[in-house]
Amino acid sequence: MTTRAMQTAHSKFLEESRVKAFDLRHRATIQFNMTRYDDAVATGKQQFRNLDMARKRAALRKHYVLENLEDHLKTFEYHFTSRGGKIIWAQNVAEARKAILEIFEENHVKQVVKSKSMVTEEAGITTFLEKNGVECLETDLGEYIVQISGDKPYHIVTPAMHLSAEDVAKIFHDRFDLPANSTPGEITAFVRQTLREKFASAQASITGANFLVSEIGAVALTENEGNGLLSMSVPRIHIVITGIEKVIPNLRDLDLFWPLLATHGTGQQMTSYNTLVFGPKKPEEHDGPEKMYVVLLDNGRSRLLKAIPQRRNLACIRCGACLNACPVYRNVGGHTYGTVYSGPIGAVITPHLSGEFETYKHLSFASSLCGKCTEVCPVGIDLHHQLLYNRKLSNKMGLFSRSEKMSIRAYKWAMKKRKRLDLPSPWIKNFFAAQFLKKGWGHNRTMPKVVKSFSSQWKEKQH
Ligand code: SF4
Repeated sequence: MTTRAMQTAHSKFLEESRVKAFDLRHRATIQFNMTRYDDAVATGKQQFRNLDMARKRAALRKHYVLENLEDHLKTFEYHFTSRGGKIIWAQNVAEARKAILEIFEENHVKQVVKSKSMVTEEAGITTFLEKNGVECLETDLGEYIVQISGDKPYHIVTPAMHLSAEDVAKIFHDRFDLPANSTPGEITAFVRQTLREKFASAQASITGANFLVSEIGAVALTENEGNGLLSMSVPRIHIVITGIEKVIPNLRDLDLFWPLLATHGTGQQMTSYNTLVFGPKKPEEHDGPEKMYVVLLDNGRSRLLKAIPQRRNLACIRCGACLNACPVYRNVGGHTYGTVYSGPIGAVITPHLSGEFETYKHLSFASSLCGKCTEVCPVGIDLHHQLLYNRKLSNKMGLFSRSEKMSIRAYKWAMKKRKRLDLPSPWIKNFFAAQFLKKGWGHNRTMPKVVKSFSSQWKEKQH
Protein backbone atom coordinates (compact mmCIF):
# COMPACT_ATOMS: atom_id res chain seq x y z
CA MET A 1 0.00 0.00 0.00
CA THR A 2 1.26 3.49 -0.81
CA THR A 3 1.93 6.16 1.83
CA ARG A 4 -1.08 8.01 0.48
CA ALA A 5 -3.32 4.98 0.95
CA MET A 6 -2.02 4.57 4.52
CA GLN A 7 -2.77 8.19 5.31
CA THR A 8 -6.19 7.73 3.74
CA ALA A 9 -7.09 4.77 6.01
CA HIS A 10 -5.99 6.77 9.04
CA SER A 11 -7.66 10.05 8.09
CA LYS A 12 -10.82 8.20 7.02
CA PHE A 13 -10.95 6.59 10.45
CA LEU A 14 -10.54 9.97 12.19
CA GLU A 15 -13.09 11.67 9.99
CA GLU A 16 -15.72 8.94 10.33
CA SER A 17 -15.13 8.67 14.08
CA ARG A 18 -15.82 12.39 14.39
CA VAL A 19 -19.11 12.05 12.50
CA LYS A 20 -20.29 8.86 14.23
CA ALA A 21 -19.41 9.95 17.75
CA PHE A 22 -21.82 12.90 17.41
CA ASP A 23 -24.56 11.03 15.55
CA LEU A 24 -27.26 10.94 18.23
CA ARG A 25 -29.47 8.47 16.37
CA HIS A 26 -26.59 5.99 16.07
CA ARG A 27 -25.78 6.50 19.72
CA ALA A 28 -29.37 5.83 20.82
CA THR A 29 -29.61 2.60 18.76
CA ILE A 30 -26.29 1.25 20.01
CA GLN A 31 -27.03 2.27 23.57
CA PHE A 32 -30.36 0.43 23.43
CA ASN A 33 -28.84 -2.76 21.96
CA MET A 34 -25.81 -2.72 24.26
CA THR A 35 -27.96 -2.27 27.35
CA ARG A 36 -29.97 -5.35 26.39
CA TYR A 37 -26.72 -7.23 25.81
CA ASP A 38 -25.26 -6.13 29.18
CA ASP A 39 -28.42 -7.29 31.02
CA ALA A 40 -28.46 -10.66 29.26
CA VAL A 41 -24.76 -11.27 29.93
CA ALA A 42 -25.15 -10.47 33.63
CA THR A 43 -27.85 -13.18 33.81
CA GLY A 44 -25.96 -15.64 31.59
CA LYS A 45 -22.83 -15.40 33.75
CA GLN A 46 -24.72 -16.75 36.74
CA GLN A 47 -24.50 -20.25 35.26
CA PHE A 48 -20.78 -20.35 36.12
CA ARG A 49 -19.94 -21.32 39.65
CA ASN A 50 -16.49 -19.86 39.11
CA LEU A 51 -16.25 -17.79 35.96
CA ASP A 52 -12.67 -16.72 36.62
CA MET A 53 -11.60 -20.34 36.83
CA ALA A 54 -13.45 -21.14 33.58
CA ARG A 55 -11.68 -18.24 31.83
CA LYS A 56 -8.31 -19.38 33.12
CA ARG A 57 -8.96 -22.93 31.95
CA ALA A 58 -10.01 -21.65 28.53
CA ALA A 59 -6.86 -19.50 28.27
CA LEU A 60 -4.71 -22.50 29.21
CA ARG A 61 -6.37 -24.83 26.72
CA LYS A 62 -5.93 -22.29 23.96
CA HIS A 63 -2.32 -21.73 24.97
CA TYR A 64 -1.73 -25.48 24.79
CA VAL A 65 -3.27 -25.61 21.29
CA LEU A 66 -1.29 -22.66 19.97
CA GLU A 67 1.97 -24.14 21.23
CA ASN A 68 1.21 -27.32 19.27
CA LEU A 69 -0.94 -25.97 16.47
CA GLU A 70 0.61 -27.95 13.65
CA ASP A 71 0.07 -31.27 15.45
CA HIS A 72 -3.55 -30.51 16.29
CA LEU A 73 -4.29 -29.50 12.72
CA LYS A 74 -2.70 -32.67 11.36
CA THR A 75 -4.72 -34.78 13.80
CA PHE A 76 -7.88 -32.99 12.69
CA GLU A 77 -6.99 -33.60 9.04
CA TYR A 78 -6.28 -37.28 9.64
CA HIS A 79 -9.64 -37.98 11.31
CA PHE A 80 -11.71 -35.78 9.03
CA THR A 81 -10.28 -37.21 5.80
CA SER A 82 -10.57 -40.79 7.09
CA ARG A 83 -14.35 -40.34 6.89
CA GLY A 84 -14.31 -39.02 3.33
CA GLY A 85 -13.98 -35.27 3.98
CA LYS A 86 -11.39 -33.22 2.11
CA ILE A 87 -9.04 -30.59 3.52
CA ILE A 88 -7.82 -27.60 1.56
CA TRP A 89 -4.86 -25.71 3.00
CA ALA A 90 -5.07 -22.10 1.87
CA GLN A 91 -2.11 -19.84 2.45
CA ASN A 92 -4.10 -16.74 1.65
CA VAL A 93 -7.46 -15.45 0.48
CA ALA A 94 -6.62 -15.90 -3.21
CA GLU A 95 -5.88 -19.62 -2.71
CA ALA A 96 -9.10 -20.13 -0.73
CA ARG A 97 -11.22 -18.39 -3.37
CA LYS A 98 -9.58 -20.31 -6.21
CA ALA A 99 -10.13 -23.68 -4.52
CA ILE A 100 -13.79 -22.91 -3.76
CA LEU A 101 -14.50 -21.69 -7.28
CA GLU A 102 -12.89 -24.81 -8.76
CA ILE A 103 -15.14 -27.04 -6.64
CA PHE A 104 -18.20 -25.12 -7.80
CA GLU A 105 -17.18 -25.20 -11.45
CA GLU A 106 -16.47 -28.95 -11.34
CA ASN A 107 -19.86 -29.58 -9.74
CA HIS A 108 -21.85 -27.06 -11.82
CA VAL A 109 -22.87 -25.08 -8.73
CA LYS A 110 -24.76 -21.89 -9.52
CA GLN A 111 -26.55 -21.26 -6.23
CA VAL A 112 -25.07 -21.27 -2.73
CA VAL A 113 -26.57 -20.72 0.71
CA LYS A 114 -24.22 -19.31 3.28
CA SER A 115 -24.40 -19.09 7.05
CA LYS A 116 -22.74 -16.39 9.12
CA SER A 117 -18.96 -16.56 9.28
CA MET A 118 -16.37 -13.86 9.80
CA VAL A 119 -13.74 -15.82 7.88
CA THR A 120 -15.93 -15.70 4.75
CA GLU A 121 -16.08 -11.93 5.27
CA GLU A 122 -12.30 -11.87 5.61
CA ALA A 123 -11.99 -13.79 2.34
CA GLY A 124 -14.66 -11.67 0.60
CA ILE A 125 -16.31 -14.89 -0.57
CA THR A 126 -19.79 -13.57 -1.37
CA THR A 127 -18.65 -10.75 -3.65
CA PHE A 128 -16.06 -13.00 -5.30
CA LEU A 129 -18.57 -15.74 -6.08
CA GLU A 130 -21.18 -13.33 -7.35
CA LYS A 131 -18.60 -11.80 -9.70
CA ASN A 132 -18.01 -15.32 -11.00
CA GLY A 133 -21.64 -16.03 -11.69
CA VAL A 134 -22.53 -17.94 -8.50
CA GLU A 135 -25.48 -16.64 -6.48
CA CYS A 136 -24.49 -16.58 -2.81
CA LEU A 137 -27.28 -15.91 -0.32
CA GLU A 138 -26.79 -15.11 3.38
CA THR A 139 -29.14 -17.14 5.57
CA ASP A 140 -28.47 -15.68 9.02
CA LEU A 141 -31.19 -13.04 9.60
CA GLY A 142 -28.75 -10.26 10.55
CA GLU A 143 -26.44 -11.06 7.63
CA TYR A 144 -29.44 -11.30 5.28
CA ILE A 145 -30.55 -7.80 6.32
CA VAL A 146 -27.03 -6.49 5.80
CA GLN A 147 -26.79 -8.19 2.40
CA ILE A 148 -30.11 -6.93 0.98
CA SER A 149 -29.39 -3.40 2.14
CA GLY A 150 -25.94 -3.43 0.48
CA ASP A 151 -24.35 -2.78 3.88
CA LYS A 152 -21.42 -4.41 5.70
CA PRO A 153 -21.57 -6.34 9.01
CA TYR A 154 -21.33 -3.90 11.89
CA HIS A 155 -20.34 -6.37 14.59
CA ILE A 156 -18.74 -9.82 14.62
CA VAL A 157 -21.70 -11.44 16.41
CA THR A 158 -24.65 -9.14 15.64
CA PRO A 159 -24.06 -7.82 12.12
CA ALA A 160 -27.16 -5.57 12.05
CA MET A 161 -26.74 -4.13 15.55
CA HIS A 162 -26.68 -0.58 14.19
CA LEU A 163 -30.21 -0.87 12.80
CA SER A 164 -33.36 -0.23 14.83
CA ALA A 165 -36.59 -2.22 14.31
CA GLU A 166 -37.92 0.73 12.26
CA ASP A 167 -34.81 0.77 10.06
CA VAL A 168 -35.23 -2.94 9.35
CA ALA A 169 -38.95 -2.54 8.56
CA LYS A 170 -38.08 0.22 6.10
CA ILE A 171 -35.46 -1.95 4.37
CA PHE A 172 -38.03 -4.73 3.84
CA HIS A 173 -40.66 -2.25 2.74
CA ASP A 174 -38.33 -0.72 0.13
CA ARG A 175 -36.96 -4.05 -1.07
CA PHE A 176 -39.95 -6.43 -0.88
CA ASP A 177 -42.90 -4.10 -0.47
CA LEU A 178 -43.72 -5.43 3.00
CA PRO A 179 -45.91 -3.05 5.08
CA ALA A 180 -43.78 -0.19 6.39
CA ASN A 181 -44.87 -1.00 9.95
CA SER A 182 -44.04 -4.75 9.82
CA THR A 183 -43.12 -6.20 13.18
CA PRO A 184 -39.88 -8.18 13.74
CA GLY A 185 -42.05 -11.36 13.93
CA GLU A 186 -43.65 -10.66 10.53
CA ILE A 187 -40.30 -9.90 8.95
CA THR A 188 -38.76 -13.07 10.37
CA ALA A 189 -41.66 -15.17 9.04
CA PHE A 190 -41.20 -13.62 5.59
CA VAL A 191 -37.44 -14.29 5.58
CA ARG A 192 -37.97 -17.86 6.82
CA GLN A 193 -40.36 -18.56 3.96
CA THR A 194 -38.04 -17.01 1.36
CA LEU A 195 -35.00 -18.88 2.63
CA ARG A 196 -36.71 -22.29 2.86
CA GLU A 197 -37.03 -22.30 -0.92
CA LYS A 198 -33.40 -21.33 -1.31
CA PHE A 199 -32.16 -24.10 0.98
CA ALA A 200 -34.02 -26.59 -1.19
CA SER A 201 -32.75 -25.26 -4.51
CA ALA A 202 -29.10 -24.45 -3.62
CA GLN A 203 -26.53 -26.98 -4.84
CA ALA A 204 -23.94 -26.05 -2.20
CA SER A 205 -23.50 -24.35 1.14
CA ILE A 206 -20.71 -22.42 2.83
CA THR A 207 -20.42 -22.16 6.59
CA GLY A 208 -17.74 -21.18 9.06
CA ALA A 209 -16.67 -23.21 12.08
CA ASN A 210 -16.67 -22.13 15.69
CA PHE A 211 -14.27 -24.91 16.62
CA LEU A 212 -12.47 -27.80 14.98
CA VAL A 213 -12.22 -30.74 17.34
CA SER A 214 -8.93 -32.35 16.41
CA GLU A 215 -9.16 -35.66 18.32
CA ILE A 216 -12.37 -36.65 16.49
CA GLY A 217 -11.99 -34.62 13.28
CA ALA A 218 -15.29 -32.79 13.74
CA VAL A 219 -16.46 -29.30 12.89
CA ALA A 220 -18.39 -27.65 15.75
CA LEU A 221 -20.95 -25.01 14.85
CA THR A 222 -23.10 -23.00 17.21
CA GLU A 223 -25.98 -20.73 16.15
CA ASN A 224 -29.45 -19.53 17.11
CA GLU A 225 -31.51 -19.73 13.96
CA GLY A 226 -30.97 -23.24 12.63
CA ASN A 227 -29.90 -21.81 9.27
CA GLY A 228 -26.40 -23.24 9.66
CA LEU A 229 -27.85 -26.68 10.34
CA LEU A 230 -30.09 -26.46 7.26
CA SER A 231 -27.20 -25.14 5.16
CA MET A 232 -25.03 -28.11 6.00
CA SER A 233 -27.69 -30.79 5.68
CA VAL A 234 -29.75 -29.96 2.57
CA PRO A 235 -27.39 -29.00 -0.32
CA ARG A 236 -25.23 -31.75 -1.81
CA ILE A 237 -21.92 -29.94 -1.23
CA HIS A 238 -20.82 -28.36 2.04
CA ILE A 239 -17.73 -26.17 2.31
CA VAL A 240 -16.47 -25.00 5.67
CA ILE A 241 -14.04 -22.11 5.59
CA THR A 242 -12.22 -21.36 8.80
CA GLY A 243 -9.03 -19.96 10.28
CA ILE A 244 -6.32 -22.43 11.33
CA GLU A 245 -6.54 -21.20 14.94
CA LYS A 246 -10.05 -22.60 15.51
CA VAL A 247 -8.81 -26.00 16.58
CA ILE A 248 -9.39 -27.39 20.09
CA PRO A 249 -8.00 -30.70 21.32
CA ASN A 250 -11.03 -32.80 22.21
CA LEU A 251 -14.76 -33.10 22.71
CA ARG A 252 -14.60 -32.33 26.44
CA ASP A 253 -13.29 -28.86 25.60
CA LEU A 254 -16.67 -27.99 24.16
CA ASP A 255 -18.08 -28.27 27.71
CA LEU A 256 -16.00 -25.24 28.44
CA PHE A 257 -15.97 -23.29 25.18
CA TRP A 258 -19.61 -23.55 24.10
CA PRO A 259 -21.09 -22.01 27.28
CA LEU A 260 -18.32 -19.40 27.43
CA LEU A 261 -19.01 -18.37 23.85
CA ALA A 262 -22.80 -18.33 24.31
CA THR A 263 -22.68 -16.25 27.49
CA HIS A 264 -20.13 -13.73 26.27
CA GLY A 265 -21.61 -13.53 22.78
CA THR A 266 -25.29 -13.08 23.54
CA GLY A 267 -25.81 -13.68 27.26
CA GLN A 268 -27.32 -17.14 26.73
CA GLN A 269 -26.41 -20.18 28.79
CA MET A 270 -26.17 -22.20 25.59
CA THR A 271 -26.85 -21.22 22.01
CA SER A 272 -30.00 -22.84 20.52
CA TYR A 273 -28.36 -25.13 17.97
CA ASN A 274 -25.00 -26.79 18.65
CA THR A 275 -23.89 -29.16 15.93
CA LEU A 276 -20.95 -31.44 15.29
CA VAL A 277 -20.28 -32.43 11.68
CA PHE A 278 -17.98 -35.31 10.93
CA GLY A 279 -17.85 -35.36 7.13
CA PRO A 280 -20.05 -36.19 4.13
CA LYS A 281 -23.01 -38.51 4.59
CA LYS A 282 -22.40 -42.24 4.50
CA PRO A 283 -24.18 -44.45 1.93
CA GLU A 284 -26.77 -45.59 4.49
CA GLU A 285 -27.54 -42.04 5.68
CA HIS A 286 -30.36 -39.86 4.28
CA ASP A 287 -29.31 -36.36 5.31
CA GLY A 288 -26.12 -34.45 4.81
CA PRO A 289 -23.92 -33.46 1.90
CA GLU A 290 -22.44 -35.91 -0.62
CA LYS A 291 -19.16 -33.97 -0.53
CA MET A 292 -17.67 -31.99 2.30
CA TYR A 293 -14.57 -29.79 2.35
CA VAL A 294 -12.82 -27.81 5.07
CA VAL A 295 -10.75 -24.87 3.87
CA LEU A 296 -8.09 -24.09 6.49
CA LEU A 297 -7.15 -20.48 5.95
CA ASP A 298 -3.85 -19.09 7.17
CA ASN A 299 -3.95 -15.55 5.78
CA GLY A 300 -1.41 -14.05 8.16
CA ARG A 301 -2.15 -16.27 11.16
CA SER A 302 1.25 -17.99 10.95
CA ARG A 303 2.82 -14.54 11.01
CA LEU A 304 0.91 -13.78 14.19
CA LEU A 305 1.87 -17.16 15.64
CA LYS A 306 5.53 -16.23 15.24
CA ALA A 307 5.15 -12.99 17.21
CA ILE A 308 5.49 -14.20 20.79
CA PRO A 309 3.63 -11.60 22.85
CA GLN A 310 0.97 -11.23 20.14
CA ARG A 311 0.50 -14.95 19.55
CA ARG A 312 -2.14 -15.23 22.25
CA ASN A 313 -4.55 -13.15 20.13
CA LEU A 314 -5.10 -16.32 18.13
CA ALA A 315 -6.97 -17.68 21.15
CA CYS A 316 -9.92 -15.40 20.32
CA ILE A 317 -13.25 -17.24 20.00
CA ARG A 318 -14.98 -14.25 18.33
CA CYS A 319 -17.55 -13.70 21.06
CA GLY A 320 -17.60 -9.93 20.52
CA ALA A 321 -17.52 -9.13 24.26
CA CYS A 322 -14.51 -6.82 23.93
CA LEU A 323 -16.31 -4.81 21.23
CA ASN A 324 -19.35 -4.36 23.46
CA ALA A 325 -17.21 -3.33 26.42
CA CYS A 326 -15.03 -0.85 24.53
CA PRO A 327 -15.96 2.83 25.06
CA VAL A 328 -14.37 3.70 21.72
CA TYR A 329 -16.37 1.06 19.81
CA ARG A 330 -19.57 2.12 21.55
CA ASN A 331 -19.02 5.67 20.33
CA VAL A 332 -17.55 5.34 16.87
CA GLY A 333 -19.30 2.09 15.87
CA GLY A 334 -18.15 -0.94 13.92
CA HIS A 335 -18.11 0.43 10.36
CA THR A 336 -15.70 3.22 11.24
CA TYR A 337 -12.82 0.79 11.70
CA GLY A 338 -12.95 0.01 7.96
CA THR A 339 -11.84 -3.57 8.68
CA VAL A 340 -13.56 -6.97 8.90
CA TYR A 341 -12.64 -7.38 12.57
CA SER A 342 -13.41 -4.26 14.57
CA GLY A 343 -13.16 -3.18 18.21
CA PRO A 344 -10.17 -4.05 20.41
CA ILE A 345 -9.51 -7.49 18.91
CA GLY A 346 -9.77 -6.06 15.38
CA ALA A 347 -7.37 -3.25 16.26
CA VAL A 348 -4.89 -5.77 17.59
CA ILE A 349 -4.99 -8.47 14.90
CA THR A 350 -5.73 -6.57 11.69
CA PRO A 351 -2.24 -5.02 11.31
CA HIS A 352 -0.72 -8.52 11.62
CA LEU A 353 -3.23 -10.54 9.59
CA SER A 354 -3.31 -8.04 6.74
CA GLY A 355 0.49 -7.88 6.46
CA GLU A 356 -0.01 -4.11 6.25
CA PHE A 357 1.05 -3.07 9.71
CA GLU A 358 1.66 0.53 8.71
CA THR A 359 -1.80 0.93 7.18
CA TYR A 360 -3.69 -0.28 10.23
CA LYS A 361 -1.36 0.69 13.08
CA HIS A 362 -3.52 3.73 13.89
CA LEU A 363 -6.26 1.39 15.21
CA SER A 364 -4.05 0.42 18.16
CA PHE A 365 -4.02 4.07 19.19
CA ALA A 366 -7.83 4.30 19.14
CA SER A 367 -8.11 3.19 22.73
CA SER A 368 -8.30 4.76 26.15
CA LEU A 369 -6.44 1.69 27.54
CA CYS A 370 -9.09 1.42 30.24
CA GLY A 371 -8.61 -2.35 30.26
CA LYS A 372 -12.32 -3.20 30.09
CA CYS A 373 -11.69 -5.39 27.00
CA THR A 374 -9.21 -7.51 28.94
CA GLU A 375 -11.59 -7.73 31.87
CA VAL A 376 -14.42 -9.24 29.79
CA CYS A 377 -12.47 -11.55 27.49
CA PRO A 378 -13.52 -15.18 28.17
CA VAL A 379 -10.20 -16.59 27.01
CA GLY A 380 -8.06 -14.18 28.99
CA ILE A 381 -6.44 -12.20 26.18
CA ASP A 382 -4.69 -9.16 27.67
CA LEU A 383 -6.05 -6.91 24.95
CA HIS A 384 -4.98 -3.58 26.37
CA HIS A 385 -1.40 -4.85 26.67
CA GLN A 386 -1.65 -6.16 23.11
CA LEU A 387 -2.61 -2.67 21.95
CA LEU A 388 0.50 -1.38 23.69
CA TYR A 389 2.66 -4.06 22.04
CA ASN A 390 1.43 -2.87 18.67
CA ARG A 391 2.20 0.74 19.57
CA LYS A 392 5.68 -0.30 20.68
CA LEU A 393 6.17 -2.20 17.44
CA SER A 394 5.11 0.88 15.43
CA ASN A 395 7.79 2.81 17.24
CA LYS A 396 10.39 0.09 16.68
CA MET A 397 9.54 0.00 12.99
CA GLY A 398 9.93 3.79 12.79
CA LEU A 399 6.37 4.23 11.56
CA PHE A 400 5.76 7.69 12.99
CA SER A 401 5.69 10.73 10.71
CA ARG A 402 8.38 13.42 10.96
CA SER A 403 6.03 15.87 12.63
CA GLU A 404 4.99 13.23 15.22
CA LYS A 405 8.63 12.48 15.98
CA MET A 406 9.43 16.18 16.31
CA SER A 407 6.43 16.77 18.60
CA ILE A 408 7.45 13.89 20.86
CA ARG A 409 11.02 15.18 20.98
CA ALA A 410 9.80 18.67 21.90
CA TYR A 411 7.41 17.23 24.51
CA LYS A 412 10.20 15.16 26.06
CA TRP A 413 12.53 18.15 26.11
CA ALA A 414 9.92 20.33 27.83
CA MET A 415 8.81 17.69 30.33
CA LYS A 416 12.33 17.01 31.56
CA LYS A 417 12.69 20.32 33.41
CA ARG A 418 10.10 22.14 35.45
CA LYS A 419 11.50 25.53 34.38
CA ARG A 420 11.01 24.77 30.70
CA LEU A 421 7.35 24.14 31.35
CA ASP A 422 6.91 27.25 33.48
CA LEU A 423 8.81 29.72 31.38
CA PRO A 424 6.54 30.34 28.37
CA SER A 425 3.68 32.68 29.14
CA PRO A 426 0.11 31.30 29.07
CA TRP A 427 -0.41 33.24 25.82
CA ILE A 428 2.45 31.35 24.10
CA LYS A 429 1.19 28.01 25.45
CA ASN A 430 -2.33 28.69 24.19
CA PHE A 431 -0.96 29.78 20.83
CA PHE A 432 1.00 26.54 20.36
CA ALA A 433 -1.85 24.40 21.64
CA ALA A 434 -4.18 26.02 19.10
CA GLN A 435 -1.61 25.42 16.33
CA PHE A 436 -0.75 21.80 17.06
CA LEU A 437 -3.43 20.25 19.25
CA LYS A 438 -6.67 21.77 18.01
CA LYS A 439 -7.10 19.30 15.14
CA GLY A 440 -6.89 16.28 17.44
CA TRP A 441 -9.12 17.92 20.04
CA GLY A 442 -11.91 18.34 17.47
CA HIS A 443 -14.41 21.06 16.72
CA ASN A 444 -17.16 19.84 18.99
CA ARG A 445 -15.34 20.60 22.22
CA THR A 446 -13.91 23.86 23.50
CA MET A 447 -10.17 23.74 23.85
CA PRO A 448 -9.14 24.35 27.48
CA LYS A 449 -7.05 27.50 28.04
CA VAL A 450 -3.94 27.76 30.16
CA VAL A 451 -4.37 30.63 32.59
CA LYS A 452 -1.51 29.97 34.98
CA SER A 453 1.29 27.43 35.04
CA PHE A 454 0.93 24.36 37.23
CA SER A 455 3.73 25.58 39.51
CA SER A 456 2.07 28.90 40.25
CA GLN A 457 -1.29 27.18 40.91
CA TRP A 458 0.49 24.72 43.23
CA LYS A 459 2.20 27.53 45.12
CA GLU A 460 -1.11 29.35 45.56
CA LYS A 461 -2.73 26.20 46.92
CA GLN A 462 0.01 25.83 49.56
CA HIS A 463 -0.79 29.26 51.08
S1 SF4 B 1 -10.68 -11.03 22.11
FE1 SF4 B 1 -11.77 -12.09 23.75
S2 SF4 B 1 -13.54 -10.76 24.16
FE2 SF4 B 1 -12.75 -10.13 22.14
S3 SF4 B 1 -13.92 -11.30 20.65
FE3 SF4 B 1 -12.07 -12.48 21.10
S4 SF4 B 1 -12.64 -13.88 22.75
FE4 SF4 B 1 -14.23 -12.32 22.66
